[in-house]
Amino acid sequence: MTGEDTIVAISTPPGRGGLGVVRLSGARALEIATDLIRLPHLPLEIQRATLGTFTLGESDRVLDQVVVVWFQAPHSYTAEDIVEISCHGSPVILRHLVECCLEKGARAAEPGEFTLRAFLNGRIDLTQAEAVHDLIESQTLYQARVAAQQMEGSLSRHLKPHKQTLLNLIARMEAGIDFAEDDVTVIEWQEILTQLDRISADLQKLVQGYDYGRIVRDGLTLAIVGRPNVGKSSLFNRLLNEERAIVTPIPGTTRDLVTETANIGGIPLRFVDTAGIRESSDAVERIGVERSYAAIADSDLRLLVVDASMPPAEEDDRLLEKLRPLGAMLVALNKSDLPAHDTCIGVAPQEAVRTSALTGKGIPELKQRILDLAAPARDSGTEGEFITNLRHQQLIKVSLEGLAKARRAAEQHTHHEMLLLDLYDALRPLDAITGATYADDVLDIIFKTFCVGK
Ligand code: GDP
Repeated sequence: MTGEDTIVAISTPPGRGGLGVVRLSGARALEIATDLIRLPHLPLEIQRATLGTFTLGESDRVLDQVVVVWFQAPHSYTAEDIVEISCHGSPVILRHLVECCLEKGARAAEPGEFTLRAFLNGRIDLTQAEAVHDLIESQTLYQARVAAQQMEGSLSRHLKPHKQTLLNLIARMEAGIDFAEDDVTVIEWQEILTQLDRISADLQKLVQGYDYGRIVRDGLTLAIVGRPNVGKSSLFNRLLNEERAIVTPIPGTTRDLVTETANIGGIPLRFVDTAGIRESSDAVERIGVERSYAAIADSDLRLLVVDASMPPAEEDDRLLEKLRPLGAMLVALNKSDLPAHDTCIGVAPQEAVRTSALTGKGIPELKQRILDLAAPARDSGTEGEFITNLRHQQLIKVSLEGLAKARRAAEQHTHHEMLLLDLYDALRPLDAITGATYADDVLDIIFKTFCVGK
């Protein structure tokens, strides 16, 4: 298990800070660390912080006071010997310490390699490793909670009884095949069908929950559309102000149009600024307009803002017609603090919310409607009862195909040997989710998205 290289990396984010942590993992971690850091006593106590000094070369010239903690294998993050050295957060010191570790024979860790080792050493399964990434990337507490649940193995636990059922069926049928001459009916067909249906129904639910899971994990984009002066920016600021804006920029196709992200009900909501959208004959401007339209079409939701204090404008109707075919949308009848015009464009009441960006009236309703529309499954089911990861969703779909084939085979009382193949087809993808079976290129894809030091 610990036969490989000892790896080292700075595990804290780049830049200066109060503290910076260098992490070593592998069979030689303790030896390298105690070689480099002067400690008051050896051996180090397990899982106890010990104050030490990091000096320049062999000299007595102190570079930093550090705290060293040894996590003895297998009771560590990677299940190998880990030593964490907390320095002051100076990039110069941290880099120098890493270089010293390299000179002593450690190897620079690849992105995600600590977590990869935890997986390869069997301390966590693949869904838990993926959840570490999601937890670190989370932008809202709600996202963190969902990731933390998965990190504790919620999805694996959910799938376990299904795998067990399939394995039982397989085992009993394999036994049946071996004793085929005895002409023993090993399992009743009806029992097989019942068990397959139970698994399918639950997996189906998981697949459907992905629509919501994806939103929880990746957030949503909302395009705010409307004529000039109807109050788009004001509404936008209202939506942002009430919740603290999230500053992390999120890469995506609409990035150059995305202005800010707010946390609405634990879901990061990115606003797509479509200020540039208006009919234009200017070529350059038209490109901008086309981009805006593409961004509007790509958004998960569209919010048309109209000025309800003004007589209805033809352009509002035109915009409405353009937006409708694109998918889910809401209309904000803004400036509702002013005397209303009883008029309004052809919107159904369930599509519209009366708002006032000036007074804040209707803003909570607007948020609720946004959430209801984007994530209708939000209130049904607790965290961990839905999947957030596309890889998991695809594998569950493959498993469902296997189950459907197995069902048909069982209905037709096909020979057990054929049915067995289908059952294996249903089981294998479930094993691939947790990483009980995996291909190296899958690991590459998953761990490449990690940063160095995780
Ligand atoms: P945009 O061009 O659509 O982004 O509109 P703005 O947000 O810049 O607002 C245009 C004008 O309308 C500003 O003077 C705002 O103060 C005003 N305004 C925006 N929302 C409201 C509202 O709900 N009620 C009232 N009375 N005025 C508003």
